[in-house]
Amino acid sequence: MAAEAVKEKHGFQTEVKRLLDLMVHSLYSNAEIFLRELVSNASDAADKLRFEALADESLLAGDADLAIDIEVDRDARTITVRDNGVGMSEQEVKDNLGTIARSGTREFLDALSGDKARDAQLIGQFGVGFYSSFIVADRVTVTTRRAGLGADAGVRWESTGDGEYTIEHLEVPRRGTEVVLHVREDADEFLDAYRLRAVVRKYSDHILLPIRMRKETPPGDAEKAADAEPEWERVNAATALWARPRNEITDDEYETFYKHVSHDFEAPFARVHSRVEGNLEYTLLLYVPTRPPFDLWDRTVRRGVKLYVRRVFIMDDAEQLMPAYLRFVRGIVDSADLPLNISREILQHNRHIDSMRAGCVKRVLDLLAGIASDEPDRYVTFWDQFGRVLKEGVFEDARNRDAIAKLLRFASTKGDGSAQRVSLADYVGRMKEGQEKIYYLTADSYATAASSPHLEVFRKKDVEVLLLVDEVDEWVVHHLTEFEGKHLQSVARGKLDLDDLGGDDEKPSAEERKAEEARHQSTVEAIKALLGERVKDVRASDRLTDSPACLVADEHDPGGHLQRLLEASGQKVEGFRPILEVNADHPLVARLDAESDASRREDLASILLDQATLSEGGRLDDPADFVRRVNRLLVAAP
Ligand code: ADP
Ligand code: MG
Repeated sequence: MAAEAVKEKHGFQTEVKRLLDLMVHSLYSNAEIFLRELVSNASDAADKLRFEALADESLLAGDADLAIDIEVDRDARTITVRDNGVGMSEQEVKDNLGTIARSGTREFLDALSGDKARDAQLIGQFGVGFYSSFIVADRVTVTTRRAGLGADAGVRWESTGDGEYTIEHLEVPRRGTEVVLHVREDADEFLDAYRLRAVVRKYSDHILLPIRMRKETPPGDAEKAADAEPEWERVNAATALWARPRNEITDDEYETFYKHVSHDFEAPFARVHSRVEGNLEYTLLLYVPTRPPFDLWDRTVRRGVKLYVRRVFIMDDAEQLMPAYLRFVRGIVDSADLPLNISREILQHNRHIDSMRAGCVKRVLDLLAGIASDEPDRYVTFWDQFGRVLKEGVFEDARNRDAIAKLLRFASTKGDGSAQRVSLADYVGRMKEGQEKIYYLTADSYATAASSPHLEVFRKKDVEVLLLVDEVDEWVVHHLTEFEGKHLQSVARGKLDLDDLGGDDEKPSAEERKAEEARHQSTVEAIKALLGERVKDVRASDRLTDSPACLVADEHDPGGHLQRLLEASGQKVEGFRPILEVNADHPLVARLDAESDASRREDLASILLDQATLSEGGRLDDPADFVRRVNRLLVAAP
């Protein structure tokens, strides 16, 4: 029997099935992106081949002009995208076109909003671009041969997008990949070469590889053309945008390029394009997106800056070029000095890279600082999207801490509700006469912060307090202890010294103060005796006006909020007891003072402590006990 090509059947991974289903049924409104994705894959394949050929020149032998060809056949109803890039082995075909290798698929699928236009764009971002072929095709055939393998290592993959694909082995005369889309009935619009050219120009103009299509023959010449060799022409501009002078590049071009590198569909928020000369020569074109990518919070995710060396693509996600707190930045860096055959390992310890990274970071921070000062209203739209990530820079990047500190925005007792709009400079600019410190309060939520008893005395004295309600803030203030010479001070920590700030009361004299302290001392001692080991200390408070009590952390202890964060992250925090500060003038405290019944005194003291814990958003060790005591008092009340 003649050796017939055997087709093996394989099932798609479950996630792929879901994705395909989505492509076929929901994404037609953005169908044209299929071409962008196929071209981008072909271009990646050429980049990979060029990179591998740095180590083994023979890979390019005989066919060194890398290009992408696109053909459309109206009669056969096919669109073909062909490249002479790196190609794929059988295993690579199975891995790349049968599964979604990248982790986070589920997150991606969950990120889909149901809004078709947005979802279609997310697909590109997520990098499952190949499957977008099924938006316009009801059958896709991929024929490929890996560079470096012989003609008999050809592989053909085919699928109708419904759960299975087949693999067969065949001879393929040249390396590279050919993707044939069998166009669906309802996707006729793409069987038009003009339409395809327009799509190529829209998305792929700056792809450095030539993208070629057949020359259109004028109507009368059809016969002549029929027997002539088909003529190809380049349809994309194929220039490195970043290598052109800035004043010759339009906003539109910058924006299109951004969409290409980021796979985003929205215009970027801001960009910086600059050529650095001197010891080290490089060009950077970096963008800040308008909206965060769906995987912003996945710190393991690849970074968005691509590395080029003298316009040759070297690698994606060069994490050495951007620190994690700027992981939302997208763009390219093109070095004139690095060797072409640089590897990831070398990148780790390369002085050039370190200094390019420093340069990139500085330029991004300068860009943001410029917007913050010139267009403050626009700046806060950035801050609302990326502020929490940028804050990580305070502890991640000590060298730029001062620059980052200037970019921070917080909610505040003098701000606009929960919106984070107040900069440290704003705060310092309106500090009261005699005020030495920048006061802040950390809490789990804006509501908890805004109604915290710790703010009472600050309200009375009209002193502003920053309200820090993001998780990351505890770490921010741990590392950012000063701003422009002003110490940052938690209002819930240590002793406060606010006497110099005035307020609505007359400042008490030293003697009045002494007398008052003596009067309070017995109350304080009594409560301390009643609470025993549950507290580190009990003190008369000068923080409170309306509330009976609050918790304070000792100068070097973690506060309640930080303890809760650490516990939530699985760390054990033990041995720290709070200091209870009581408002000796409060009726509840006076009641305790006057109470003669021992068990009722104990109830009152315990409730004071539990209330103070609750009002800072803490959890009670024994909530039932609290309820019992409160009920006992309620029942006993006249
Ligand atoms: P991504 O490009 O983000 O990795 P795709 O779904 O577009 O995701 O492609 C999946 C993988 O299939 C690619 O990473 C690549 O390994 C492989 N691939 C797709 N098209 C080609 C091609 N033309 N040549 C070589 N490999 C390809
Ligand atoms: Mg792709």
